[in-house]
Amino acid sequence: MTPSQKTVTKRINQLHRVLDIRHLTESTFLLRLERKNMQFRAGQYLTLGLKDAEQHREYSIYSGEQENYLEILVREIIEGDVSQQLKAIRTGQFLEVRGPYGFLKLDKKKVATHKFVFIASGTGIAPFHSFVSSNPGLDYTLIHGVRYRDESYDRLAYDPNRYVLCTSREKYENYQGYVTTYLDQLELDPETICYVCGNSSMIYEVYNILANKGLPRENILSEVYF
Ligand SMILES: Cc1cc2nc3c(=O)[nH]c(=O)nc-3n(C[C@H](O)[C@H](O)[C@H](O)COP(=O)(O)OP(=O)(O)OC[C@H]3O[C@@H](n4cnc5c(N)ncnc54)[C@H](O)[C@@H]3O)c2cc1C
Repeated sequence: MTPSQKTVTKRINQLHRVLDIRHLTESTFLLRLERKNMQFRAGQYLTLGLKDAEQHREYSIYSGEQENYLEILVREIIEGDVSQQLKAIRTGQFLEVRGPYGFLKLDKKKVATHKFVFIASGTGIAPFHSFVSSNPGLDYTLIHGVRYRDESYDRLAYDPNRYVLCTSREKYENYQGYVTTYLDQLELDPETICYVCGNSSMIYEVYNILANKGLPRENILSEVYF
């Protein structure tokens, strides 16, 4: 077989220019990148790394399907490698991007007929921001668990009647406590479709709570970040 007859399966890294950086808190920022020809469905993720670097990490696409740019929400991990490199990047520099990957997508047939509940911890809100931006008219409730209220990233992007902020370490006018405690008290129609994204222990607990509320397993989709 000649090289030209071989099926090329290796994905080629694309270089995307950083167009803008928006700091939401001291440790969390939004990177806006050129979209180029990247086709994706809301809920999918990319892998990002510095040009020619060995290390890439996964990041959910934060921006909507119709935007002419890509946005990624990143929380800096102090002992981490790639999130630190991303924090040091400047507008005009390039990042290597691969993807899109992942199956955390909305079922387009159910978008007009079903209620959705999105449950996120921290930056796990990213795919839900993309869902909401890409699907005007979506019947959703977004439950966002953070430690402090300044981590309610971009909360004005959501209908205030649909966004529930749960702060675990700060008393404020929003719900004080964990997303799981909030969810436990919530009445849910078993037809609701639930999406869960963030840290694995929260996701595990949410599965148990939803199962106790009678939600069938196929109505729950999740993405584990760490
Ligand atoms: C499908 C998928 C999508 C993801 N999307 C996002 C996203 O949209 N935004 C985002 O910021 N991260 C996201 N992550 C996490 C991201 O891929 C990296 O793991 C994170 O940025 C840390 O990378 P690092 O190289 O800096 O640290 P590493 O050197 O890889 O890890 C250092 C330590 O930090 C832990 N860790 C990783 N993420 C977190 C976190 N958020 N909070 C606390 N501890 C953590 C790791 O388990 C490890 O123990 C996603 C992960 C997956 C699997």
